[in-house]
Amino acid sequence: MDTRRRLRKLTEAMRARSTPALLVANLPDVRYLTGFTGSNAALVVLAGSRAGARLFTDGRYTAQAQQEVQGATVRIAPKSALVEACAYAAGSGAANCGFDRTHTTVATLAAMRSAVRKAGGPAGFFQPMDGAVEQLRAVKDSDEADKMRRAAALTCSLYEGLMAWMEAGMRERDIATELEHRARLAGAEAMSFETIVAAGERGGMPHARATEAIVQRGDLLTLDFGIVLEGYCSDMTRTLAFGFGEGPIPPRQRARWVEQREAFGVVLAAQQAAVDAVREGATCDAVDDAARSILTAAGWAKQFSHSTGHGVGLEIHEGPRVAKGQKSKLEAGMVITIEPGVYLPGRFGIRIEDSVLVTATGCEVLTPVHKGWLEL
Ligand code: ZN
Ligand code: ZN
Repeated sequence: MDTRRRLRKLTEAMRARSTPALLVANLPDVRYLTGFTGSNAALVVLAGSRAGARLFTDGRYTAQAQQEVQGATVRIAPKSALVEACAYAAGSGAANCGFDRTHTTVATLAAMRSAVRKAGGPAGFFQPMDGAVEQLRAVKDSDEADKMRRAAALTCSLYEGLMAWMEAGMRERDIATELEHRARLAGAEAMSFETIVAAGERGGMPHARATEAIVQRGDLLTLDFGIVLEGYCSDMTRTLAFGFGEGPIPPRQRARWVEQREAFGVVLAAQQAAVDAVREGATCDAVDDAARSILTAAGWAKQFSHSTGHGVGLEIHEGPRVAKGQKSKLEAGMVITIEPGVYLPGRFGIRIEDSVLVTATGCEVLTPVHKGWLEL
């Protein structure tokens, strides 16, 4: 993990915005910049003549910080890590200090200001500098890309194992539990979010939680899950069908079955079109539109009720947003999801999601496990 390179890029961005000091208190940002994985930390980055980074944490993390932190000096704060960090920034000679409003509560900002006042710092010391680290995090370096490949590969193999195990008559919750148990046994540190297992009409809710509901023959099942491996999240969705085997389709199920198959074909085409639209320089809007225009042409504009995708990395949702109207351009090294879907409340739902690594000429699909129509 090249934290020194990341800190150097951050100080370049700070100089470009005339911000001589930056307080970083969002833990995933701290981890990205220093390698520190503890649950209490505040990092001060200086970009002026005394350029450097100092991490403040508490006594529980003395040994861990020593082991993990690279590129920053460590200070164990006897009281509040945040208050000491603010006092340090105020005494550093910096005229002002950036902070990220999107990760700062009103109470925290009051504590930060009070710490600066007590340290004799100027009023108005803290100036908003939102998303500076998030922007860096959006473009993965080769070390991060490798970790994300490994997390995605494990995700695919867990899915394959589950497909061989699943059958009609199981409860959604048991499927989620089995998946999560297997994930932990296989080395996952955690799930990246609460596993979504949605059968039949429950699939009509984009973010259905796994319940006691039983998977029936004739149902589609949406499985959306991810694991955390070496700190990095994976994210994948597959929708599969529980068919009738050799038996006939019951007459009252025929219409829904046919409609589900048709809808699946359209979502798959939309998902593939968006994957094909990914390349360095493409706008997020263009990738979203590649999927949306196909679903719109099929009459399902309203049923595709969310954006096409999102960045993923140390957090399950991070920049960029792959959504309508997002004019920001994809850069090589970004990892984004492509996950269009259609949702018919009370009837069924379909979503197909891959995580892809943006390259100069296209993308590398990190989750290349079977995504076409599949009947169990
Ligand atoms: Zn997902
Ligand atoms: Zn996702």
